[in-house]
Amino acid sequence: MKNTSALDFAAQPHRRWNPLTQEWVLVSPHRTQRPWQGQVEAVAAEASTSFDPACYLCPGNVRAGGIKNPDYRETYVFDNDFAALQPQTPPGKLDQEGLLVARSEAGRCRVVCFSPRHDLTMARMSASELLPVVDVWAHESSELGSDPRIASVQVFENRGEMMGCSNPHPHGQIWANETIPNQLAKELHAFGAHYQSHNSTLLADYLELEMREEERLIYANEHFVLLVPFWAVWPFETLVVSRRPVPGLPQLTEEERAALADILRQTTIRYDNLFKVSFPYTMGFHQRPSDGGAHPEFHLHAHFYPPLLRSATVKKFMVGYEMLAMPQRDITAEAAAALLRNLPGKHYLG
Ligand SMILES: [Zn+2]
Ligand SMILES: [Zn+2]
Repeated sequence: MKNTSALDFAAQPHRRWNPLTQEWVLVSPHRTQRPWQGQVEAVAAEASTSFDPACYLCPGNVRAGGIKNPDYRETYVFDNDFAALQPQTPPGKLDQEGLLVARSEAGRCRVVCFSPRHDLTMARMSASELLPVVDVWAHESSELGSDPRIASVQVFENRGEMMGCSNPHPHGQIWANETIPNQLAKELHAFGAHYQSHNSTLLADYLELEMREEERLIYANEHFVLLVPFWAVWPFETLVVSRRPVPGLPQLTEEERAALADILRQTTIRYDNLFKVSFPYTMGFHQRPSDGGAHPEFHLHAHFYPPLLRSATVKKFMVGYEMLAMPQRDITAEAAAALLRNLPGKHYLG
């Protein structure tokens, strides 16, 4: 294992730069020793039945509004019955002295069931069961993105009650916007500036550096790498990066999609194994905007943001200084990577 040569102050408080969002994160490694009276979360009971008659995502059940789910066998995609965005939103605009500024926002919200099985999670699905999920994400990104009114497609999953997801049925969401949302806009700016000065993508160069340094790597296959980013905010935050600088999910080859299914499984298995619990997180892909541009500067990746800190019941809060000033973490990215790297790649429940 190589050391981060120049980071000889890693044990003392320091700031790290996130080149994707152009923001700092405060790292306070000495605080991991302080007395802690953490919030105790009730460990959510695992879904134990493969079909729940009360679940609105299970095959054959009737959803709000009276729509009956088909008897699907792999994945199932539908428009969210309570969509935050709607395609037929009429245009509207407000600008009062540059202080009261608003725009109408049209879009679409889709729900993706990963499996007909109510009791599965990404970590408990095989790579061949996850492949259709990756295919659906790619297909939906391409379909939604081809609509000239859609500028960006956000694929994501909220997993676990701690993240506000009350239904354990394995599913994710896809929100397609008329405009480019804040996070993607920040990254797009950073990718653009880097590409212009280096003629390579920001994450291609970052990945090359991390492959040399090794100490933040967790797992890699032929086409994807899993690591704890140097600038991680959440205790066990990770980044999944494609080795080839592809701009989005639709541009992945068949082989790359299979490799993505594998690394998503490896990521979530390690998370579950860390505290022997179905690990909560928000995960999502950042891909190029669907504004018609080729965007060679953009580089597909997935962020995993899990809230757990030191056990199945203690979570990190983003409060106080973090709400008012900047995010802060105690355990270093290197320590978190070592913990995740050394966990078995086989799920603890077998
Ligand atoms: Zn269900
Ligand atoms: Zn990103």
